[in-house]
Amino acid sequence: MLARRVSAPALARVALALAALAGAARADAALPPSAWRYRSNADLASALDALHAGPCAGVSSVTSIGTSVQGEELRVLEVSTDPGRTQAKPSFAFLGNMHGDEPVGRELILRLAELVCLAGAPGARADGGVGVAPATITVAEPGDERFFETARHLALRARLFFAPTLNPDGFAARARGNARGVDLNRDWPDQYGSVSDDGSATSTTNTRMPADALETRQPETAAALSWSRTVNLTGALSFHEGAVVANYPWDAKRGSRRAEYARCPDDAAFRRLARAYADAHPTMHLSKEFEGGITNGAKWYPLWGGMQDWHYVVTGTLDVTIEVNDEKFPRATELGRLWREHRGGIFAAATTATRGALRGFVRDASTREPIANAALTVEGVEFPFAPNALGFFARPVASGDVERKNDATREKNAEKPFAASLAVTAPGYVAAAQTATVDPVDGADLVFEMVRVEGGARGGAGGGGSPSSPNRETRGGSASVVDAARFGGRDFVDVAPRRRIEPATPVSPGRPHPEAVWGGAAFVILAAAATIRKRRARTARGRGVSRVEGV
Ligand SMILES: [Zn+2]
Repeated sequence: MLARRVSAPALARVALALAALAGAARADAALPPSAWRYRSNADLASALDALHAGPCAGVSSVTSIGTSVQGEELRVLEVSTDPGRTQAKPSFAFLGNMHGDEPVGRELILRLAELVCLAGAPGARADGGVGVAPATITVAEPGDERFFETARHLALRARLFFAPTLNPDGFAARARGNARGVDLNRDWPDQYGSVSDDGSATSTTNTRMPADALETRQPETAAALSWSRTVNLTGALSFHEGAVVANYPWDAKRGSRRAEYARCPDDAAFRRLARAYADAHPTMHLSKEFEGGITNGAKWYPLWGGMQDWHYVVTGTLDVTIEVNDEKFPRATELGRLWREHRGGIFAAATTATRGALRGFVRDASTREPIANAALTVEGVEFPFAPNALGFFARPVASGDVERKNDATREKNAEKPFAASLAVTAPGYVAAAQTATVDPVDGADLVFEMVRVEGGARGGAGGGGSPSSPNRETRGGSASVVDAARFGGRDFVDVAPRRRIEPATPVSPGRPHPEAVWGGAAFVILAAAATIRKRRARTARGRGVSRVEGV
């Protein structure tokens, strides 16, 4: 494995301990957020260690997920109530500086981590905390205090990952690519292969994602890819520069380089996420170039081998690319302004993704053991995603009926609950599906109690007997067959109890899971199969396409 723990330098620990002892104002002295500057790679690493030892002590871990071509460590700071361990929570990552000459994300992510820890971490510490108490928060930028509550909620409810740089060598050289000149946002496996310079596609069929082929990737890509496979991210923001817009999949499209809308199956959920960001930004949503401040990647300009499409297909992560500034590598004196402009969107997107989700557990009906090798499929999405080792899953969803409407209609219906269906298969179990009524803000909780197939046959495609099999009767009522065609032609049976059930309960009784106290997410498991209408909106044509190399 590439990941390994990095211990904070002793000096940083001492400095932070002294700072904490010295009082409130000193906390920021060790990691001066008000003195905006671009930190060197060495200073960035030290800053993460200082956060880990100071404001984030007790609720963080720092890992090196790999090294760059020139041997710089790629560090990720995790902040959560049980850092370094799989948890029954959604997870969200903030990823920066994949393009070396787009460094703003480095500093935004660092500042974000500090704010989350200062505001949120103390409440997450069971023993009352070893870090800085809430009352000692030093406001670095006016208005930061407005986000303390949101930050606190995020720190409690999610696993948060902060990766300020995915391309330290490029940063040091003020270059887009890595030390070998390779554009890392073209280096990921791509579902369509790629398109050559003359516009001819190397693959015209959708192959979904080819193998990782780590040996053919740049070390930075291989590190990020391998790490991502281990953390089961619910959502992510990746920070770039060269425009002001929130860009969502697909980035790639089949066949040609022509810019046109390439709609992914989760278009509504992505639009909602991107819009949450743009609307919370003072100017992004007013963009003259991008309607609402958001854009489908391929409609802007298609690209192949990017991270966000891979994330979506392979790990089920809703990853949105945020272009933070028209000018690349702006002066450091602009960083304070950029932080003030983007912090609202950052919190809005992270909250939207981790809260407005279908979430729950997949477990054995009789033993209650998690089924980690289950495959979950959202209705209408042809590729499955997996729960984590605890059987927990979280998947942001949105109503297509709402998202595709104009602003007024969308606002009117924004709070209206909608139906979403989720299907589960697991080897040795009867396939299952449930339809939930989803609260747009709070999402919905689902528990799949999977029933073993008698005689050890495998569930899922081709297994588990016919839909009329009496084996499919489960506790809580008679099973009903769900339209198999909607879930890729497989047979699914609704094994949901026909009653209101309690929100997801902790898998391990000895360890409290904060998601159990989210509350308010009342949900109903509907007996009937989904009735979600599929509206296949026409592929929108490229509008006002501008080619930049910022993404
Ligand atoms: Zn970029």
